[in-house]
Amino acid sequence: MQFPHINSKLPNTGITIFTEMSALAQEYNAINLGQGFPDFEMSEELIEFVNHAMIDGHNQYAPRNGVMDLRETLCDKVFNLYQKNLDPSSEICITPGATYAIYTALTAVLEPGDEVIVFEPAYDSYVPNIEINGAVPVLIPLVYPDYKINWDEVREKITPATKMIIINSPHNPTGSIISKHDIEELRKTVEGTRIFILSDEVYEHLTYDGFQHESILKYPDLFERSFVTFSFGKVFNCTGWKMGYCIAPKNLMAEFLKVHQFNCFSCNTPMQYALAKYIKHNRDYLTLSGIFQKKRDYFNDLMKHSRMKPIATRGSYFQLFDYSSLSQEKEIIFARKMCIEGRVACIPTSAFYKNPIENKVVRFCFAKKESTLKTAVDRLLQFEATF
Ligand code: PMP
Ligand code: GLN
Repeated sequence: MQFPHINSKLPNTGITIFTEMSALAQEYNAINLGQGFPDFEMSEELIEFVNHAMIDGHNQYAPRNGVMDLRETLCDKVFNLYQKNLDPSSEICITPGATYAIYTALTAVLEPGDEVIVFEPAYDSYVPNIEINGAVPVLIPLVYPDYKINWDEVREKITPATKMIIINSPHNPTGSIISKHDIEELRKTVEGTRIFILSDEVYEHLTYDGFQHESILKYPDLFERSFVTFSFGKVFNCTGWKMGYCIAPKNLMAEFLKVHQFNCFSCNTPMQYALAKYIKHNRDYLTLSGIFQKKRDYFNDLMKHSRMKPIATRGSYFQLFDYSSLSQEKEIIFARKMCIEGRVACIPTSAFYKNPIENKVVRFCFAKKESTLKTAVDRLLQFEATF
């Protein structure tokens, strides 16, 4: 008897750390500071706009690249923020989330044997998305504890097979950001090469302490070789909507669209109408860095009573803590224990490495109500008392 057999394309991949820790948090009734999502409500007005779009009959397929009104609105937003003129008909595509946009960009570009430079720790989808395309991730650790890029090492690792470099700023999970100096180094590194850039900018509005987001969209010579990905979930506190977009120059976007049109073809219509209407008159995204910086500071002030040490975060909605003064246990063991015994979920930073590096550092998401953060820290301090 013969049975069908899948020769797995991702033989070493299990469930994601976000799924694991969120399930554990639910099982033990823990406060979930693990998976990155806000626990406060999104705009009621935006929800109303979705309802209206449905009632108004916007319930059939959207165009492949997305509803034109939304694309135009986003191009205006990009111009205002980054002084970049985009063609809404050929340089932007609305996607079901940024994760999908990243996968689509990688799939459009990569051929078997291509090498892709990935800085670790890294958002967990990059490496499997590279491998599923038969390409090879070339892993470069960000330098602990600042998590800066060692550009000399990048240049050493470039080979004729290097097809792409993935950058992510503000960075998940470390909260580090790319500086003007990094942009200069990136420029020096790719100039005269055929290397593409994937710039994951989902936390574009979340920078703190006066630091500015360095978008690839500001640099024409870099943009011409780049796919830039964004997520509405992070901007409008609606991660469950799974809506995002990709921006790329016309020739790159043409290939992106070929993959996209045979994967989901187009995405959620009423939400696109609602987002277009909302973004046109509401610029609250400009206030996000202030709101989230307050949350970070509130959390860190409470954590001053902890023996865990914060590692400076300049962006994103994550804060790393070094727990080495409490325990020498592996990060995943410590994180599970914190969830089960301390009833607070976090994410072990080692989960963001292909071959885990153990710095005894865990990630907390501070995109939460102050009351949630307060209860979480109360629990963490009680948990610490057991060490
Ligand atoms: N990139 C990074 C760095 C992220 O942290 C996330 C998820 N929070 C994404 C991409 C994916 O965003 P989305 O939920 O829109 O797929
Ligand atoms: N981006 C979120 C995080 O890093 C979670 C995304 C996911 O669950 N896939 O926590």
